[in-house]
Amino acid sequence: MTYALVLNSGSSSIKFQLLDPGNSATDEPFASGLVEQIGESSGRFTLKHGGDKHVVEEEIPNHSVGLSRAFELMTEQGYGPSQVEITAVGHRVVHGGLLFSGPEILNDEIVEMIRDLIPLAPLHNPANVDGIEVARRILPDVPHVAVFDTGFFHSLPPAAALYALNHEVAVEHGIRRYGFHGTSHEYVSQRLPELLDKPADEINQITLHLGNGASCAAIRGGEAIDTSMGMTPLAGLVMGTRTGDIDPGIIFHLARNADMSIDEIDTLMNKKSGVKGFAGVNDFRELRRMIDDGDRDAWAAYSIYIHQLRRYIGSYMITLGNVDAITFTAGVGENASFVRADALAELEMYGIRIDPERNELPNDGARLISTDDSRIKVFVIPTNEELAIARYATELAEQKTG
Ligand code: AMP
Repeated sequence: MTYALVLNSGSSSIKFQLLDPGNSATDEPFASGLVEQIGESSGRFTLKHGGDKHVVEEEIPNHSVGLSRAFELMTEQGYGPSQVEITAVGHRVVHGGLLFSGPEILNDEIVEMIRDLIPLAPLHNPANVDGIEVARRILPDVPHVAVFDTGFFHSLPPAAALYALNHEVAVEHGIRRYGFHGTSHEYVSQRLPELLDKPADEINQITLHLGNGASCAAIRGGEAIDTSMGMTPLAGLVMGTRTGDIDPGIIFHLARNADMSIDEIDTLMNKKSGVKGFAGVNDFRELRRMIDDGDRDAWAAYSIYIHQLRRYIGSYMITLGNVDAITFTAGVGENASFVRADALAELEMYGIRIDPERNELPNDGARLISTDDSRIKVFVIPTNEELAIARYATELAEQKTG
């Protein structure tokens, strides 16, 4: 059996999966792991394989030590890089700027280009570059591929991609809508030709990636024409801990009147707002329980969340003109039937009718949740970004090795 290794390096963590690119979205990976609290006094490795979980706690000074040690621990467990055949390594890279519209085989030059994009994603790209460098050192003979969160949104037309900010300033600082979660939007949208039995270039669809981070996209004929995240992943829908769209004047107001620094406002809007900023929790299972118990803040958070979601769905219906399908995906989209029902409630006059029984079916694969007479079909399609990255990495590695 051959596997792809998928790495997702964050500022203080590394997530990885060893998986068969032929898997389906709901298959468990062959092995997976999480390296946490890198750079702190106590770190943790969690490895999972065949139903077993193995946890080791020890200091992890940097990404290089974290990844090398993770490989050692995998080897101790019998599935290290020298014990299983790894044919490709796929790296999730958050920001590809205007430079990358699709996955790229990594070489020194491409790594430098990703490094040059750090000003656009100062929190994410440095960790991505670290992960790439360490993995290329440890696995020098395997092709490494970068898959960009922004890549799918290269097709945005200027009207959707540009902000009405002073154009000179915008150009000088690379300010435009890049969009994120592209791998997920592309992955679920590619299931539609088969599910609708219609050629990809004739399908207009709206994809709703509702996880802890959340975004939506309008897709015409397989190409994204609008999306809710912007220059950064802070924009658009209300999220677990992020505001989504707010009046940018609020930032000036807080800076002038609340004695908050830019970094404090950044943390407030990214980590202490959204559903959590109202309800104190960002998990929709807990939110639901609180609403059922009559918690008014939880209800307020949920109402704002749904209001903003419906606003985007409505606007994308106008942008697309004719919509064939709306798809829910990611943790909330796949599991929270009440969110799906409320997001599309009372839209029969626009050709959308959810079937309440289908909407309650368990989450075990792609499924239709609209009624047979609903003109716009509504689907739930489990996303799997790691699997999509594994497939890109394997495909490019095969092309490279011919
Ligand atoms: P993701 O970022 O896609 O992993 O989504 C994580 C979020 O999905 C969690 O914070 C929860 O809010 C939500 N979620 C996961 N499982 C469920 C569930 N069974 N019911 C409702 N929400 C869920």
